[in-house]
Amino acid sequence: MAQIDFSKVVSDFLKSGVSYPFAKKYGEKIINLASNESPFPPSPRVLSAVQKALKNLNSYPDPWAIDLREKIADYTGLGGKNVVLGNGSDELVDLVCRLFLNPGDRVLIPIPTFSFYELSSRLVGAKIEFWALPDFRWRAEEFLRVAKKSKMIFVCRPNNPTGNSVAEEAVLELLSKGKIVVVDEAYHEFAGYTLAPYVKDYENLIVLRTFSKAFGLAGLRIGYALASPRIVEAIQRVKQPFSVNSLALVAASAALDDIPYMRRVVGTIIKERQKVADELTSMNLKVLNSDANFLMAGGFPKDADEICTTLEKRGILIRSLAGVRGAGRGWVRITIGTEEQNRKLLSVLREILK
Ligand code: PMP
Repeated sequence: MAQIDFSKVVSDFLKSGVSYPFAKKYGEKIINLASNESPFPPSPRVLSAVQKALKNLNSYPDPWAIDLREKIADYTGLGGKNVVLGNGSDELVDLVCRLFLNPGDRVLIPIPTFSFYELSSRLVGAKIEFWALPDFRWRAEEFLRVAKKSKMIFVCRPNNPTGNSVAEEAVLELLSKGKIVVVDEAYHEFAGYTLAPYVKDYENLIVLRTFSKAFGLAGLRIGYALASPRIVEAIQRVKQPFSVNSLALVAASAALDDIPYMRRVVGTIIKERQKVADELTSMNLKVLNSDANFLMAGGFPKDADEICTTLEKRGILIRSLAGVRGAGRGWVRITIGTEEQNRKLLSVLREILK
């Protein structure tokens, strides 16, 4: 058989073995508490808007989506020229890497974190430096020290999977030193805090958001970046022309018309998060404080992989962090589900740990 001559960057990437952290199974029968999705459907307004839009599937989606970008601008307190859409924020992570990183450029990734940053950085041949969060905490001084030589830094805020955040001042310090900082706010609606207003002050700040979590639109794939008009324009030009489909555009717009619905969903999840955290603690597990829709828990008497496999056999998926860089073998990440899903998880977990 003829040898396939992949590019050096691609063959290095394939050799690295990193891959997207897909859930182990997909389908309606399984209780999936492994992907940080919303356990609730999107607003009824979204469903009826999508239903109507089904009539126009013969047309390409609007590549500029001016109205939706203006709506996002209102929602985030910025201008339409600060907003660019992506096929999920995943697409935007990829584009930001392609836009800013040359082979060999230094990128800093605090770990454990969302693994797509590593994947996208590898795919452009960047030199990745990992910083392991000491005790899963963000120590601002140490962070600033390790970031000294980096060109670009990924900051997941709040961080997946630890659920906590670096102090705002540390990010501003990096920005004032001219670093390109990508602040991923996928879980912003649960946390409440944001660095979005600083997009007006720093051309080197890119804030990423998504409709996949609080708005319940993970299946439609739509996210956005908030950045200076220059960066927005560059992303708009390098991205695939129609990467965000017409149903996603309509759905995101309708979701923003029903903010009270999203707030109710977020409120319910936050209340459930506290209940789940208390229950896990009562099982003698360690639970990190979380500002997001998931909890990181450890201290199991068995290996995390084994716990997850046993749960999977009982129809429940949670994420083992055993293979996640910087997490360690004893930890899992649990997405907060509906009250019923959480109850089921906790009762099975109690049984397993007995
Ligand atoms: N950022 C973080 C921190 C995430 O956890 C995820 C999904 N798990 C994403 C981005 C991807 O979001 P999207 O569905 O918008 O691609």
